[in-house]
Order: sequence, then C-alpha cells, then structure tokens
Amino acid sequence: MHPTPSAVPARRTRRDGAVHAAAQGLLDGLETPVAAFVDLAGIGESAQALHAAWPSEVEVLHAFAAKANPLVPVLAQLRRHGMACEVSSPGELAQARAAGFTPDGIVLDSPVKTLAELASALAGGIAVNIDNFEELERVDGLIGLAAAVPRIGIRINPQVGLGSIEAMSTAGRTTKFGIALQDPGHRERLLDAYRARPWLRWVHVHVGSQGIPLELNAAGVAVAVEFAQEVNRQRPGQVVGIDIGGGLPVDFTDDADSPTFADHVAVLKQLVPDLFDGSFRIVTEYGRALMAKNGFVASRVEYTKTSGGRRIALTHVGAQVAARTTFDPQRWPLRVLVYDGDGRPSGADQEVQDVAGPCCFAGDLLAKERLLPRLSPGDLVVVPDTGAYYFSSPFHYNSLPMPPVYGFEADGDGEVRFTLLRAAETIDDVVSRSGVAPLPSPVAAR
Ligand SMILES: *Cc1c(COP(=O)(O)O)cnc(C)c1O
Repeated sequence: MHPTPSAVPARRTRRDGAVHAAAQGLLDGLETPVAAFVDLAGIGESAQALHAAWPSEVEVLHAFAAKANPLVPVLAQLRRHGMACEVSSPGELAQARAAGFTPDGIVLDSPVKTLAELASALAGGIAVNIDNFEELERVDGLIGLAAAVPRIGIRINPQVGLGSIEAMSTAGRTTKFGIALQDPGHRERLLDAYRARPWLRWVHVHVGSQGIPLELNAAGVAVAVEFAQEVNRQRPGQVVGIDIGGGLPVDFTDDADSPTFADHVAVLKQLVPDLFDGSFRIVTEYGRALMAKNGFVASRVEYTKTSGGRRIALTHVGAQVAARTTFDPQRWPLRVLVYDGDGRPSGADQEVQDVAGPCCFAGDLLAKERLLPRLSPGDLVVVPDTGAYYFSSPFHYNSLPMPPVYGFEADGDGEVRFTLLRAAETIDDVVSRSGVAPLPSPVAAR
C-alpha cells in the first residue's frame, strides 16, 4: 500500500493549528471542557482523492454512508464536493434531505424497512436496495407507485467470509444482511426473481467495514458482478449497475490514509476487471475512509492521580463520544495526542499512563498503560481519527451531554476560523430527552 505522504503533514499542521486556536478560547475548561472538531478542508481533500481514484471511463456515483457522520452540515459539505448519500434509516434519510440531497443523490439501504418507508422512497424516486425475498414481495405490491425510472436493486450476501472484526463483517455464511447467494436454491430463486421483474436493474453488495482486507472486499464485488452478468446473459441489458458498498478500512495508527481509495481501485481492477468494462454504472458507499481522519475530539485534563502505582489522567472524553473504543479497546484502539494548556504539542517527559473518561464504569478509558507525555491538569488530550462513527454517534450513558462540534478552516491570513456545526447539548436538552414531565401528584381522595 502506498499512503500519500504529502497529505500527512498538511493534515497534522491543520490539526495542530486548530488545537492551538481552540485552546485560546473555545476550550476554556469551564463552560466547554470537551469539544469535537471537523477539518473542513480535509473533507474536500478526501472527496477529491476519491473522485480522482476512480477512472473517468466508468460512470460512478459516490454515496457517502451517512451513518459514519450524519451531522447535517458535514453531509452538506460532502454534497458540495460532489458526493451522493447512502442512508439506512428514516432519520438518516431526513438528515440527507436536510443537507440538500435530492432523490437522485440518495440510496436507501436500511436492512429493516417498514411498508411506509418503502412506499415513500419508491414514490419519491430514491434508489432502494432490497434486503430479502419478503421485502421483494412487498415491493411487488408497491411497484405501481414507483417513480418513472425506479432504481431498485437487491443486496446479495456473497458469503466470501469474515474479516478481523466479526461485528463489522457482513459476508459470513450466516450474516444477517442480504440474500445469501450460496445457500441451496437461493441463486436460482434470485435469477427467477430478476427474470420475472424487469424493473430489478441493480445488484448491491457490501462485504463489511473495518477489518476487511481489500482482496476480500473485491471477492464480494466479483460475486455481485458475476451474478449481474448471469442475469444479463438471459435478459441482455437488464442489470445496469453494481452498488459495491463501502468498507475501505482506516489506519488508526497514523495520519496517513492507508489503504487509499486508489489502492482499492487498483485491487478491484486486478480482481474484478469486468466492473470496469463499461457494462455497468457503479455506486460506492464509502463512509469511514472519507471522514475518520477529518475529525478529532479534544478535552482538558481535569485531574490526575495515581492508583496502585498507575498514573491516571481524568478527562471529559470517554464512552459518550468513543463508545466502541471503551467497550472493545483491543479492536478499536485510538491514538491519544498530548498538548499543553496553551495547545502546543507537549514536551513533557514520557510516562506510562491511563487516559480516563467521565463515565461511571471502570472501562471508560481512552488509553490504558500508554506511554505518553506526562499529563497535568489543564493539558489537552486530542483523540484523532474520530471523524467517523465516534463523536457523531453519541452514547447517552450517565446523561452526559453531547459536546459541541466545530468545523475549522484557515482563513486568508492563515488564522483558524471555527464554525459551529452542532451546538453543545445543554442540561435542559438532556432533561427534555429524559421522558415526559411527571404528572402532578394525584390528590388523595377523601
Ligand atoms: C456501514 C455501511 C457502509 C459504510 O461502511 P464504511 O466502513 O464506513 O465505509 C456502506 N454501505 C453499507 C450498506 C453499510 O452498512
């Protein structure tokens, strides 16, 4: 794999600039001890790298997987950079619409769509990928409602195997997604289904997310292409497109993108050359690879202590913004970068420390026994690579409010300018999402 070294210093320089600027004001440690940040220029760079990686001979629509970062201004920024949007729930669909995506730029993949969701998506001209045979029957009953040119596909499970994180792997033998193509009878049944329905014109596959090697991803795409070709041998031209899903993994150990979008395309070209022969339009659904490196969380260190000889820094960044890491630290390790109170990279001596969050369970640790510059109260801990699936997917444990999210960009003079993308949740907001107001106490009857 060949990371793009030139992109690394720029990304790091922008982050250092933002941390320093935030330390002067936003992260006052009193009102705002923790905040999340989005690198707006980075989003443009990532989208640009994606567009550049795919050859111009193929017609490709890049649909960002909204679940990776569903903040409306983030989705809008991606739209401005030529992205479409993949959604998997009514909430994500509404977020995509709020970000300005029109139906021709939305793909609905929810694994469990209600009848009402299906009816409105089909009537609205949104592309739909069907998950199972029963959903297909439902669509049969709704197809009369569909927009003039419906974009309907079926998600197949190519059953090519699991990656290193089973929970992120969607092409195992018994995985819950799509129609398992190798199960007895399924391939024939699916071919019959396409034969009987000329409006079934897409094939969808998504092999999984973090932990899926590029070769395994390509093996799944190859199964989708072969199936589409088999349909087309019987009914020439019926399948017009392949939605290849997302799942380009992220390197959480470094600022570079590795693998890159270009690496993915190179592996696909080698292992699935027919994808590029011009017979098919392509939809991609990259999520984490576009956004992970374009966001970070920063928190003041509130206190430090030692316990059993272990030095521990108590911060405001924990499970509420990084649930995956705190619950499954082996599979989801994150880097922790240390800055001094002024927002400059710390020069303190290295020491083995734990970096703990604010939640009331012992596993609420961002880092355990990690060699880091010695942390002191008022220092800043910065957790990079959290722009996808982290602060945008909050965990409400302990009723911790969602921190504010700021976009950052350098202005003409190189000064860092922050834009509010999501306001800090207030304590009143927390109460208002905590159930209905209590009824007045019943007056005792006499
Ligand atoms: C989650 C998901 C994606 C995006 O996965 P990433 O690993 O973020 O690229 C794409 N398509 C589908 C159907 C998904 O469920």
